[in-house]
Amino acid sequence: MVDINRCGIPGRVWTALVLLFLGPAGFPQTQAPDKEILKAVQPGYFMFPIMPGEANSLSGGLGDLRPNHFHAGIDIRTMQREGLDVYAAADGYVSRIAVFTGGYGNVIFIKHPNGLTTVYGHLRELKDTLANYLRSEQYKQQTFEIDLRPAPNQFPVKKGEIVALSGNTGGSGGPHLHFEIRDEKNHLLNPLLFGFQELADEIPPFFERIAIQPLTPGSTVNGQAGRLALTPVRKPNGDYTLPQPVTASGLVGLEVLGFDRANGSPFKNGLSCIEIRLDDQEVFAYNMTNYPNDLTRLINLHMNYGIEQLTGQRFHRCYLADGNTLNLYRTDGRKGRLPLFDGKPHEVTITLYDTFQQASTLRFTVLPEPPASETGPLKPSKLPTRIFYSAEENTLIIRAANFPTAVAPPAVLYADGGESDLPVRYVRANEAYYVVDLRQQLPDSVQIGSAMAALNYRTHVIPGKETAYRDSTVHITFPAGAVYDTLHLAVSHSGNRLDVGQVTVPLNDKIEVDFVPGGPVADPKRTQMYLVSGGRKAYIGGFWKDNRIRFRTQLLGSFQLMTDVNPPTVRLLRKDHEALVATVKDDLSGLDTVRAMVNGAWVLMQYDYKRALIWSDKLDPKKPFEGSVVLEVKDRAGNLTTVTATLPPAPVQPPTDTTATEEKN
Ligand SMILES: [Zn+2]
Repeated sequence: MVDINRCGIPGRVWTALVLLFLGPAGFPQTQAPDKEILKAVQPGYFMFPIMPGEANSLSGGLGDLRPNHFHAGIDIRTMQREGLDVYAAADGYVSRIAVFTGGYGNVIFIKHPNGLTTVYGHLRELKDTLANYLRSEQYKQQTFEIDLRPAPNQFPVKKGEIVALSGNTGGSGGPHLHFEIRDEKNHLLNPLLFGFQELADEIPPFFERIAIQPLTPGSTVNGQAGRLALTPVRKPNGDYTLPQPVTASGLVGLEVLGFDRANGSPFKNGLSCIEIRLDDQEVFAYNMTNYPNDLTRLINLHMNYGIEQLTGQRFHRCYLADGNTLNLYRTDGRKGRLPLFDGKPHEVTITLYDTFQQASTLRFTVLPEPPASETGPLKPSKLPTRIFYSAEENTLIIRAANFPTAVAPPAVLYADGGESDLPVRYVRANEAYYVVDLRQQLPDSVQIGSAMAALNYRTHVIPGKETAYRDSTVHITFPAGAVYDTLHLAVSHSGNRLDVGQVTVPLNDKIEVDFVPGGPVADPKRTQMYLVSGGRKAYIGGFWKDNRIRFRTQLLGSFQLMTDVNPPTVRLLRKDHEALVATVKDDLSGLDTVRAMVNGAWVLMQYDYKRALIWSDKLDPKKPFEGSVVLEVKDRAGNLTTVTATLPPAPVQPPTDTTATEEKN
């Protein structure tokens, strides 16, 4: 018997497959077992879609944490090569063909008789019948990006038939085949549970970092109100431990930065399961065997989104954030939050599993916080007092350095015309810390000794309720579904810059902002909003009406008006009877449209943003390009670059007898 209470999928593939559709005990069931599907998931129903029968390896797995989405399938490595045969995994028909500049790139979907669909992404090219259909539709609609749903059985395929060649199109970081298996409800299933002998994994997952997050303003870890990240140490027996003691009190959450490696691959792939035990009682389990595609954006609640924005590291949060409705968890009544109120030591066990049920375990003891936290004395300083602050969960942590005296004064919080004193919570490294519960008060500014800092908190935005903020300069509307959790909204503006909330808070929907810039805008037509964060500039856009710019954004943070004065740079690399090839680049707003005309007729230009390259793809390859060539490239600020050329008439080909040669081959 297999212990199905374990978080990890039991070792035998068949049991794992049944579990996928029954759900391990205690995990929410996302679907009823279906005879047809159970037949389909018998090993061998699907063949491996590339290099079948050979030892393959992966550079990505189901559920890997990616920007704004869980990874929807497996990434099969192709040894930095493109052009490998891609096979239909089973009988069926092509139900969707699409081309995206980013994301999947060139992709096909095959629907199978049992209702499952397989997906093949980042393809270099499709087999002839599909490629011809795609190209003719692109010409009909005069577009490069396209999303087609051929009729059922318009393009039937047989298991093992070559349907495409592998590539590196779209958002891939190198050549590979992206492969998915979906059910009829558009749930992404873990392809590894379908029994592919081409893949093996005997290497257990590993811990890179863990973090302990105080979850209420009264909670502390190692005496502090802020998040503590630690690097676990691997012991010779393979278990992990922490390099230093941990003390905590209140309500805290655990976060894990962990990965898996599989045979033959240097890549850090994701985890299948995480299980947390407190004093040997399971309090949280995460099990990634399948998930609904339409909820993939909830990854921004599953992981610590703020830390991802600031550091790029994607920690699994092992406690449920408010608003997280994913069916991936089994938790206790506290949703995985650890209650450390009793002043006693507690044993914590974190176990990571990969899909092949290799496991790694970290054990440590959380000791109670020492009773009196330190509030001084400080070493007096002649330097002016400086104030820093950051928000975590509902807690605003204010930190101040340089005091003329040995005792730090209370902070004075100003809000709504009133003021209140806030005593020092603790002193660390000669700095005084003050902790504000943002659920209780939203300070506009803070004064500590002689120093002042603007905090600019304005209002609470509550999930499920439309909220508007207005002042003389800015109107902001949050639709009812915009926030996942109560947002303590800070707003400030100066000149052409507008700050709305913090970049560390995810949004579920776009908000609408209407802003009157404080400074002159010389060229409004080409001036739009950009999100500016840590040296990055992301185009947001916007429309002007009178002196106001209105824009929609699903990101919070610092917005800045910028003027894109330069049209795109276009370098024609090749123009002849056979092909047009050019490099296209834009320095600020980014490319909007590419349009090529030869002798007045629209020509499809393929686009690879990674190489900044466009090249022609003729409808009729035998027909030479002749006459006028016009290439128009526009950026998102409306700047247009037009390149023109003239091609002489193509020399008339002497008639050749090709039939004879073909017969000889
Ligand atoms: Zn992928």
